[in-house]
Amino acid sequence: MTFRRAEVIVDLGAIASNVRALKEKAGVPILAVVKADAYGHGLVPVARVAIDAGAQWLGVALLEEALALRESGVRAPIIAWLVPPGSDFATAIASDIDLGVASLEIFYEICSAAQHMKKRARIHVEVDTGMTRGGFLSEWETFLDLLVNESERVEVVGLFSHFARADEPGQPQNAIQLKRFTEMSDDLNRIGIEPEIHHLSNSAATLIDASAHFDLVRTGIAMYGLSPDRENLGSSDSLGIMPAMTLRARLHLVKEVLSDTPVGYGALTSTSSNTKLGVVAMGYADGIPRIAQGAGIFYNGKRAPIIGRVSMDQFVVDLGAHSTAQGGDWVTVFGPGYEGEYTADDWGTASSSINYEIVTRIASRVPRIYKPATTIGAL
Ligand SMILES: *Cc1c(COP(=O)(O)O)cnc(C)c1O
Repeated sequence: MTFRRAEVIVDLGAIASNVRALKEKAGVPILAVVKADAYGHGLVPVARVAIDAGAQWLGVALLEEALALRESGVRAPIIAWLVPPGSDFATAIASDIDLGVASLEIFYEICSAAQHMKKRARIHVEVDTGMTRGGFLSEWETFLDLLVNESERVEVVGLFSHFARADEPGQPQNAIQLKRFTEMSDDLNRIGIEPEIHHLSNSAATLIDASAHFDLVRTGIAMYGLSPDRENLGSSDSLGIMPAMTLRARLHLVKEVLSDTPVGYGALTSTSSNTKLGVVAMGYADGIPRIAQGAGIFYNGKRAPIIGRVSMDQFVVDLGAHSTAQGGDWVTVFGPGYEGEYTADDWGTASSSINYEIVTRIASRVPRIYKPATTIGAL
C-alpha cells in the first residue's frame, strides 16, 4: 500500500443510510446535492451511492460538475443551477442536463442554444422568494411574457427557489418565502405553464418543514450526515443521520517540551506545563483553517488540542506529558464523534465557521478513501 500522510475516509454506507432516512422523512423524491465535489466527499462515488440508495435526482452548481457525472456514466436526471451567461449551453442540452434559469440573459442564451441544437432545453425556473441571491425578481413579469412563446425551444420541467433561514424554526421569513413561492407558481400557471416539479426545501426544511416539501427536496449537508445547524436543529445523532467523513493524518514527530515554551508562528500560545507536543502533518494548504483554536486531534482515546497557530502544512497539538504517541502514528482530526473525537461541527465552531465549510475545504491533495456501502457503521 502506498504511504499516506493524511487521508479523508468516506463512509459510503453512512451516506446510503442518510439518503434512506431523508427519503422516509421527506415522503417525496430526493435530489442529492453533490456540488463542490459532493461537499468534499467525492462527486462520482457519492452520486452513485445516493442513486443506489434511492435518490432520484442529482443537483450540482456548475455545468462542469454535471458533465463530469455524465462522463462517468451517470444517467439519472441532473440539474445544474449555477450556469452563467457565456456557458456552453449547447453541450448541456446535448448531455441531457436540466438547467436552472435565473435571469433573462441566461434564458436568451438557452433558447438560442436549443434552436442551434434542434433540441428542447429542459429548464427549472429559479425564483427569488426572499433570499435575494439567485432567481428572478425584477425581471419576472418580462420573463413570463417571453416564456409563453418559447414552448418549442424550452420545456419548463421545474420551478424552484431557495430558503435563506430554513435552519431557524419559526422564523417568519420562511413563511413569507413559502407564500411567495406559491404566488410565483400561480403566475406560471396563469400563462398556461405547469411544471412537473416544484422544489424549495434544502436539508433544514426537509427535516423540519413538511409544508415546504412540494414534489422534490434538495438535500445536501444532511445527506453527508451533518446537521444544518447543531444549535437550532440538533446534532446528527438526534436527527438520525451519520457523519460520513473522517479526516486523519500522521504525526510527523513527537517532542517533549518544558512549561512556558512558546509554540509556532507569532508564539501565539505557550505550553502551560511540561508536556509532549505532536506535530500533525496537515495544515491550511490541506484545508485546516488557520484560525482554528479549540479543536485538535484524537489519539488513543484522548483529545489533544491545537497549540499555537496552524501552519501551511502542519499544526501542533498538546498530547499531554504521558502520551505514548510516536512519529508516524495516525491521529483523527475529525470524524463522526462516536469515540469522542472532534467532529466537523467542533472544527466549525473552533474556526468561527460551519461544518459545511470544514468538509468542503479539504484540499484535493488529501486523498479520498472509500469504505463501501456494504459495511455500514463506524470505522
Ligand atoms: C447547496 C444547495 C442546496 C443544499 O443545501 P443543504 O443546506 O446542504 O441541504 C439546496 N439547494 C440549492 C439551490 C443549493 O445551492
